Amino acid sequence: MSNEKNGIIKLQSVDFLRKTMGDYFNRLKDATETKNKKIAWCTSVGPAELLYSMGFEVYFPENHGAMIGASKMADKYIPSAVALGYSPDICSYLTSDIGAFLQNETPLQKSGFKSVPKPDVLVYNTNQCHEVGDWFSFYARHFNVPIFGINTPLWINELTPSIVNSVVSQFKNLVPELEKVTGQKFNIEKFRETVALSHDGCVLWRKVLETAIHKPSPINFFDATIHMGPIVVMRGTQYAVDYYKVLLAELQDRIKNGISAVPSEKLRIYWDGMPLWYKLSSMAKLFSNLDTCIVASTYCNSWIFDDLNPEDPFGSSALAYCKLFIVRSDAEKQKVLEKLMVDFSIDGIIYHDAKTCGRNSNNRFGLPTRLNNQNNIPYLEINGDLCDSRCYSEEQSIIAIETFVKQLLSRK
Ligand code: SF4
Repeated sequence: MSNEKNGIIKLQSVDFLRKTMGDYFNRLKDATETKNKKIAWCTSVGPAELLYSMGFEVYFPENHGAMIGASKMADKYIPSAVALGYSPDICSYLTSDIGAFLQNETPLQKSGFKSVPKPDVLVYNTNQCHEVGDWFSFYARHFNVPIFGINTPLWINELTPSIVNSVVSQFKNLVPELEKVTGQKFNIEKFRETVALSHDGCVLWRKVLETAIHKPSPINFFDATIHMGPIVVMRGTQYAVDYYKVLLAELQDRIKNGISAVPSEKLRIYWDGMPLWYKLSSMAKLFSNLDTCIVASTYCNSWIFDDLNPEDPFGSSALAYCKLFIVRSDAEKQKVLEKLMVDFSIDGIIYHDAKTCGRNSNNRFGLPTRLNNQNNIPYLEINGDLCDSRCYSEEQSIIAIETFVKQLLSRK
């Protein structure tokens, strides 16, 4: 049975997704209320495996920031963070999350939380940006709990053993500190198991995204931004593995039965940068009505850590988290993009320049021109933001997107 609404064919796995995410939040709520487990806050590409293996329930403020963005509440919250001295130009996940906290509100209240789960420890990795350190420091001061960071150099060109080894040491240095929080000894076998589960989840997530290589694609960017929830917050657990087996089976089934994400796919686009969380459904409809499928993206690919290896859990974690797209130089990013353009048969690229996230806006240092000189694939840049809708001009962007699509069709 298809589930078509306004040109969007919803994936039926969405019910299982809701249950999987609902159960995750229930486990966090349970830990908050009963104190049966310690709670660690972690950055989205932080050491989730280590934390899960040491028995924490793990909460991800960026996921919370995305929920605020998707609920279109960020514009209400950001001014409270600005009033406290946080610039409106810095990460709007940060400002909307801290602003919501200051206003004593959270989208989690709909799931029965009184507030966000109180942390016992905060752990970040600067592989994505340094702003996460400032963000987590706010909460470390507020709750008076320990904070630890892995400081990964940004703009890695050649991924040398010295960089990886430095991150390995930092991972290892976390262990005694986290033991003090849990009161339990670290168990390397448990860490291996968690790394193995994370690896398996990431491989499944890769396969999910790679179903979009098929023409027409059974999944688009807007589906993927929703269905990526488990790989972000449950990486290293059986729950994520179970979920992606079901999603992958549905997508393979779609391919077999000729069901595509966009009913009449004529163009295939690559999306670089952050989603506009407050515009997901209207953008999904816009592209669907233009017979255009966004088949691949930098953002959703960011949670494929298939270098993880239980034989060498520390070394492979450090490698996987340093190899990540966002942490690399533009020259390395270009190589990744060149390959994706071919693999996914891309007709055009849209770069989203997110006002408050320079790290995830790859159009700022000439990369689009260099890539275009190499592969002659047209591109469009649109200005917006992940959460702060005041940075996005919808009318202007729609006109630009429609014109871009016409230009791409004329090349066919
Ligand atoms: S990478 Fe961008 S969106 Fe993510 S925390 Fe850093 S500034 Fe915010």
